[in-house]
Amino acid sequence: MSIRFDVSHLCSFVTEIRDLLAPEPVYLVGGMVRDSILEGYRRGEEIPDLIHGEDWDLATRCRPRTVLATLRSAGITTIPVGIEHGTVMAVRERLNVEITTFRSDGIYEDGRHCQVTFADSIEEDLERRDFTINALAVDLSSGEIVDLFNGLEDLQKNVIRAVGDPDRRFAEDYLRMLRATRLAAKTEATVEANTLEAIRRHASKIQNISAERIHDELLKLMGYMRPSHGLLLMKETGLMREILPELEACFGVEQNQFHSDDVGMHLLKTADAIHPRYPLLRLIALFHDLGKPERKRWMKDQGDYVFYGHQFPSADKAVEIMNRLRFPTREIDLARRMIENHMVRLGPEATASSIRRLMRRVGRENIRSFLRIRIADRKANALKGPGLEPGLYHVIRTIRRIERDMDALKITDLAIGGKDLIEMGLKPGPIFSEILHILLERVLDDPSRNTRECLLPLADEIAGAKGRE
Ligand code: ATP
Ligand code: MG
Repeated sequence: MSIRFDVSHLCSFVTEIRDLLAPEPVYLVGGMVRDSILEGYRRGEEIPDLIHGEDWDLATRCRPRTVLATLRSAGITTIPVGIEHGTVMAVRERLNVEITTFRSDGIYEDGRHCQVTFADSIEEDLERRDFTINALAVDLSSGEIVDLFNGLEDLQKNVIRAVGDPDRRFAEDYLRMLRATRLAAKTEATVEANTLEAIRRHASKIQNISAERIHDELLKLMGYMRPSHGLLLMKETGLMREILPELEACFGVEQNQFHSDDVGMHLLKTADAIHPRYPLLRLIALFHDLGKPERKRWMKDQGDYVFYGHQFPSADKAVEIMNRLRFPTREIDLARRMIENHMVRLGPEATASSIRRLMRRVGRENIRSFLRIRIADRKANALKGPGLEPGLYHVIRTIRRIERDMDALKITDLAIGGKDLIEMGLKPGPIFSEILHILLERVLDDPSRNTRECLLPLADEIAGAKGRE
């Protein structure tokens, strides 16, 4: 199986870097090699084309200082991003090229800190990589592929296999266990039996890995076609129990006559049902029913189970997970809003004022995200039948109208504010917020009231009533 890349039409920036570093050979390494070959297999090509990506990973024997000096003297913009790890980044227009000096084993001591040792050959550099399909390199002068661990065969078989002894490789960096499940999801691959067994044995050690690294892997996973593929592998190997015990607890929790799956499978399917372009939304969707196990009750008169109020513990659990995994506050806040509101009734009878109030709660800018989750929630349930939930078109039309008319949804959208209340002779204090909130409620019911002419006398009336209280 000897294939070779056609390097005659490499992009000119990469060619230039290659030629500047000559006579030292320059290799393309990492995900781009893997993805390009896979793409070639899919199209049945003998000579795969390099993917025309924007992020290139190159490897060379030249030391970082030499790389930096050589590129700089040729007028290339360089950033010594990870120079202590041996990486120099070269930038031109939208292209980012990372040039990393060959490194050898012993990079990860405790899975956190890297102790870098530079190496002299591409072979040593490939040996330190995690999986055989990631341990491929392309010589950018000849197009020849360096494949020391049968990565090409594994790519063809769509198998994730550790380079060398899996126990040792995971001990060097336990994040690799999670990477295995993530990479498997990327191409719906299987994990080779010994590698899989080793993950099972060491799953609990994922706790040694920083939350930030786990966060990044999970988000990447959410960007693939079917994150459920990776999540099921995480469940099967015990990684889910360690990282997302709240999700693990949803498996085996059967629902009721309205649902086709247990809570766990339903959550996985809901995440899958959102477009991969929205990884964060998919993650939020994955958490939207986490409170169901604790809210499951038998309802005698219905002869079935119910989950009343589960949206609140679900939101609490999502917030807890996202805090634990160091998500930014803004994203955690979004998750809370999306999940707490996911049970709202949205039928053909939904009024404009109830939809304005929903938009107020989830945030005007988030209403489309909210609907995406809502639509996915239904799609993930085989018993609901095809198509959108009844009344959703009506809701979407109403949302459009509310947006077009820029209806007020929050205090700051009101036609009057604190300054006007002061001019009316009122003393600033908690009463201001009370008055403005009452006004907002009136405006949410009827946006035509949002004028100074209407609100000033109303404010006066409310202030008078408050004064008499
Ligand atoms: P993606 O296309 O999703 O970015 P990738 O394989 O490029 O996937 P990166 O995290 O960008 O993943 O890593 C680039 C390369 O570095 C990998 O292909 C692999 O060879 C190596 N690598 C990355 N992380 C590790 C690790 N934890 N242990 C060993 N090798 C790793
Ligand atoms: Mg990459």
